[in-house]
Amino acid sequence: MTSETTSNDFIRTIINKDLAAGTHQQIIVRFPPEPNGFPHIGHAKSSTLNFGLASEYGGRCHLRFDDTNPQTEDQKYVDAIKCDLKWLGFDWGKHEYYASDYFEILFDWACKLVKKGLAYVDDSPENIIRAMRGTVTTPGIHSEYRDRSPEENLNLFQAMRAGEFEDGSRVLRAKINMEHPNMKMRDPLMYRIRHATHYRRGDEWCIYPFYDWAHGQSDAIEGVTHSICTLEFSTNRILYDWYLDALEIIPRPRQYEFARLNLDYYVTSKRRLLSLVQENVVDGWSDPRMPTLAGLRRRGVRPAAIRAFCNSVGTTRVDSTHDPALLDHFIREDLNHLAPRVHCVQDPLPVTLTNLPENHEENISASYWPRDIPREGTRNLPISREIFIEHSDFSEEPPKGYRRLTLGGMVRLRHAYIIRCTDIEKDEDGHVIRVHCELIDGTRSGAETSSTLKPRGTIHWVDASRSLPAVVKVYDRLLSQPSVNEDLWSNLNPSSLVEYRHARIEPSIIDDVPEQRYQFVRLGYYWRDPESINQSIPVFNCIVPLRDSYVQETKENTKQGNIKTARKTSKKHPVDEQKKSRIKTGQRPLTPEEKQWLRMSGLNSAIGLAIYSVPDASAFFRAASASAPRISVGNWMANHLLPSLKNRSLSDLPFGPEEFSELVQLADKEIGSTHEIREVLKLMFESKEHPARLLARVQDSIVDDPDTLNEIITDVLDEYKDRVEAYSAGKIGLLGFFVGQVMRRVHGNANPKQIQLLVSEALARITS
Ligand code: ATP
Ligand code: MG
Repeated sequence: MTSETTSNDFIRTIINKDLAAGTHQQIIVRFPPEPNGFPHIGHAKSSTLNFGLASEYGGRCHLRFDDTNPQTEDQKYVDAIKCDLKWLGFDWGKHEYYASDYFEILFDWACKLVKKGLAYVDDSPENIIRAMRGTVTTPGIHSEYRDRSPEENLNLFQAMRAGEFEDGSRVLRAKINMEHPNMKMRDPLMYRIRHATHYRRGDEWCIYPFYDWAHGQSDAIEGVTHSICTLEFSTNRILYDWYLDALEIIPRPRQYEFARLNLDYYVTSKRRLLSLVQENVVDGWSDPRMPTLAGLRRRGVRPAAIRAFCNSVGTTRVDSTHDPALLDHFIREDLNHLAPRVHCVQDPLPVTLTNLPENHEENISASYWPRDIPREGTRNLPISREIFIEHSDFSEEPPKGYRRLTLGGMVRLRHAYIIRCTDIEKDEDGHVIRVHCELIDGTRSGAETSSTLKPRGTIHWVDASRSLPAVVKVYDRLLSQPSVNEDLWSNLNPSSLVEYRHARIEPSIIDDVPEQRYQFVRLGYYWRDPESINQSIPVFNCIVPLRDSYVQETKENTKQGNIKTARKTSKKHPVDEQKKSRIKTGQRPLTPEEKQWLRMSGLNSAIGLAIYSVPDASAFFRAASASAPRISVGNWMANHLLPSLKNRSLSDLPFGPEEFSELVQLADKEIGSTHEIREVLKLMFESKEHPARLLARVQDSIVDDPDTLNEIITDVLDEYKDRVEAYSAGKIGLLGFFVGQVMRRVHGNANPKQIQLLVSEALARITS
């Protein structure tokens, strides 16, 4: 594995302290998947973190399968997880472990708790047990079996193990506290009876440990020093510690929780991904639209891009959802210097170069690389009287700013000549089916010419007869909404797969190795679909478009007869008109100016282009970022300043880049909260006062407007999702914490009673 940059985070801080204090000599962590599905991008985050820590600190990372549930687990998932982790570049050596190998010791330990009077066999049905646990605000009720003697419990538990009882007839429970504010501590279940075949242990066992009983002990057995898991387990920590105390296990692992990685427009839950597979909505776990590692691999993404993405999002305790554009960014970065540029026309429109003779055959030697990549290599681009261009590169009624071919207009064919459109042919329905152009002599690229012609733009093309047929599959986000709660099915993106069945590609690719990645000029990065490698017509997957953008479907798009939208998705779930219209082009090539601007600005494309498209904003951005961090200036401009401009222009504002940069610094140094800085920005639109002074005023004024307060409360509850979770698990004392956080953000300038009321209401909405 290559060494990659990771930032210092709270986990690394803890480890540094532990090492400095001599608490541990060696760091032992683990990645603990349950083999009940294929790993996804969230697992990439967790494994990148754990294996990364092991390698950074010269420790080790175990791969442990938490395989305690015979009903959902399978060897095929173990194999998939190992394959994907190896592909990501991780090595666990001989440290491959299975919780199912610990069944004996876990059983002995359970007996130990029984003998100590700390666990009992409960004959109540599972639904009764659930009902007797109580609620967040009401205590649980003791089971009538709770006071069985240790001897009776031991006999019963051994009889459970010996297979004397039916499934579901009894459970083993820890005897903790039915009134505990954390519901996880209300006599949690340790074992259930399941006469089921385990994929590794066969029929050896008919009782299976619950995850919560197996997980912490497995870490202890392996000598794990830092058990790193996701935030939803923070309320379990107390239980894991209780078990270790009761068993008197020393030394013990310490658990630390970090926020899950979520991606907008995707689901990262194995349960939901499994349902997509089972319902045949996708082509298995490795469908390139899936956020699984197998899907990303099949799409053509390389592991380095995934690791870089996981490292870049950092490790925090704040739940956050990431824009897939960020992952795309790392994929492009990884491929830019690796993928030779070739021509592929996805949606061909025939062009006749009328002034070339019928039998004209010419070969153009064209570089594989753009000028800014210092690599060598050329290929032959044949050209003759008949060529293809993209349908979308010709327009009869061009919109303003259209820089491609129009009737009477000129474009340059990339690496070749300037052509002028003289005529078009249409079918009965009025669709353009062929364009006639004349090739302008003496305009060949690179040749010494004195041409002063000004073509509108440069487009890609291929020769008609000497190009090769290809099928091109372009993938888009799985969902049509950034996130969905329950109704996954009606939120699937109907255009998540667009198939171009009559694409044409230049002939140079014919002898290439299958793993070769290309940049199809002006389109994106592509490679051969590994699962279609034996098909006579090559099938290419789009790894990532050059730029991703959602735009309204234009009339032009609907005309494209040769495009077949993913049937599997659209057939099952008829799409409404509005969703249909959100089809992705992904194909609009960036202009060279836009590209250069993005490169120079160092901003991601969404932010960068938002700024680029507003008059004067680029200059404003440059000036403001002279004294504040560029990325922050970009974010604040794109997300706050520009959207509030409405009809005003930047030069009309009472402040300039200098003041704006001061504002951004106040935000960056956390002198003001995001909310306050936004308030200050509003005031700056009307006043010439200094941002710092405005901030002081905002921070001093009493806030009693419920809308404003609710906005702040939502921010707080979002930031502390883990505590909201804990609150709903019974830690109702956290109400005070939330109120305190809100008070802090208004600098004490609000009525705590009012805030308490609003926070309680907000919590009730979330946790009901
Ligand atoms: P899912 O919700 O997809 O079923 P899981 O947590 O049940 O995931 P596991 O196989 O138990 O899946 O996960 C293995 C490890 O990966 C755990 O430590 C888990 O906390 C971590 N993990 C799972 N999903 C994510 C995610 N989205 N972001 C970061 N870590 C994750
Ligand atoms: Mg899990």
